[in-house]
Amino acid sequence: MKTNFAVKGTIKLGVLCLFFVQIGWSQNSDQQQLKNIYDAALTKGKSYDWLNYLSNQIGGRLSGSIQAQQAVNYTKQELDSMGLDRVWLQPVMVPKWVRGIPEFAYFETSPGVTTNVPLTALGGSVATPPSGVKSEIVEVKGLEELAVLGASKIKGKIVFYNRPMDPTLINTFAAYSGCVDQRYAGAMEAAKYGAIGIIVRSMNLRLDDYPHTGSMSYGDLPEDKRIPAAAISTNAAELLSATLQLDPKTKFFFKQNCKLFPDVESYNVIGEIKGSTHPDEIIVVGGHLDSWDLGDGSHDDGAGCVQSMEVLQLFKQIGYKPKRTIRVVLFMNEENGLRGGNEYAKVAMEKNENHIFGLESDAGGFTPRGFSFDGPDSSFEKIMGWKDLFEPYLVHLFEKGGSGADIGPLKNERITLAGLRPDSQRYFDYHHAENDTFEQVNKRELELGAATMASLVYLVDTHGLNP
Ligand SMILES: [Zn+2]
Repeated sequence: MKTNFAVKGTIKLGVLCLFFVQIGWSQNSDQQQLKNIYDAALTKGKSYDWLNYLSNQIGGRLSGSIQAQQAVNYTKQELDSMGLDRVWLQPVMVPKWVRGIPEFAYFETSPGVTTNVPLTALGGSVATPPSGVKSEIVEVKGLEELAVLGASKIKGKIVFYNRPMDPTLINTFAAYSGCVDQRYAGAMEAAKYGAIGIIVRSMNLRLDDYPHTGSMSYGDLPEDKRIPAAAISTNAAELLSATLQLDPKTKFFFKQNCKLFPDVESYNVIGEIKGSTHPDEIIVVGGHLDSWDLGDGSHDDGAGCVQSMEVLQLFKQIGYKPKRTIRVVLFMNEENGLRGGNEYAKVAMEKNENHIFGLESDAGGFTPRGFSFDGPDSSFEKIMGWKDLFEPYLVHLFEKGGSGADIGPLKNERITLAGLRPDSQRYFDYHHAENDTFEQVNKRELELGAATMASLVYLVDTHGLNP
């Protein structure tokens, strides 16, 4: 009996050793693959050159613009040259909103005594009358205060929303979320009380002279009730607020001639490497190809597009043949409609495609800190087991939370969605403003982001998830 036990014990020990050797081998090979990926990104990356072209040869890529179409053509051509298994354009109808000639604004403390104000129309806003709008101003800290004041105080005035982003929030996206209702719904709500226009403090944590645009909505307001909406720079918001303290009769003038045209056809740009063993399991990695028109959209979201293309490029570079199908999607029209993201999910559903994982980069091309995940707990637990592999690259953040707007429509009970989380401290210095330009993106930071994305996609592809 004793001998028997010993024999059994030896066999068990042997199996156990083999098990640990296998785990060890798999961890070593994962470590090595991540190193290969980061090395390739930092020495043979293409993301920075692609971004240079998108930003400096094409520029701002608002949906429906010539530049958006040029970006479709350019990125398709680059994907075509990468030796992928399939590259195609997915048609989608998008809104076409055009800013027109530059806006003009000032405030007036007494007749003829004016101070010019940097101002930009919000995306989707109606124009002012050709001669502009001018009236007294009502400053509020938000939609609740507007409702308290009501029509008696608001009618015939310009409403000035001036609640700043909360500087104490380390996640600046949380500060943005806490403020952006003023921009998005400010005109719709003020119009109900008879305002003739609204201006909003830019969604920007720092004080500077750049007005930041962004999307807004009139909800179901009929066309003749819609009022013009614009953002002013944070410096201008501070100055205007201080001036109003001294003289509540101060008047504001602004003029803009933006216009919404009928929808036009555009495209999501898609490329894929077919999976070698599970071709029907699809992993999507993407960003949005459209941008606002003020800058060249380098951080938002040129960076996310070129990083997503880079994931496939890096796999080709290091000779990694994925088991599952890896698809890059450059979504059209995230900024003012999300039509590309919705269309992609709709077609995926119609074709009964099995998407197991989606990763989006749409938070700027800054130093990667980690990811946030939205999906089944079992998959999140499995991903947490890979966290240590990212330690050498100073990537630490693995948390539950949102993913990305464009991949959001793919959500179901099985899929895991993730968002790259770069350092967010500087993002809102540039977001939707004229200074979101190529010079603001650091090459290494951009490449590290791409490598971090490729590493996670590699791990999901190699080991699968547990939905
Ligand atoms: Zn974006």
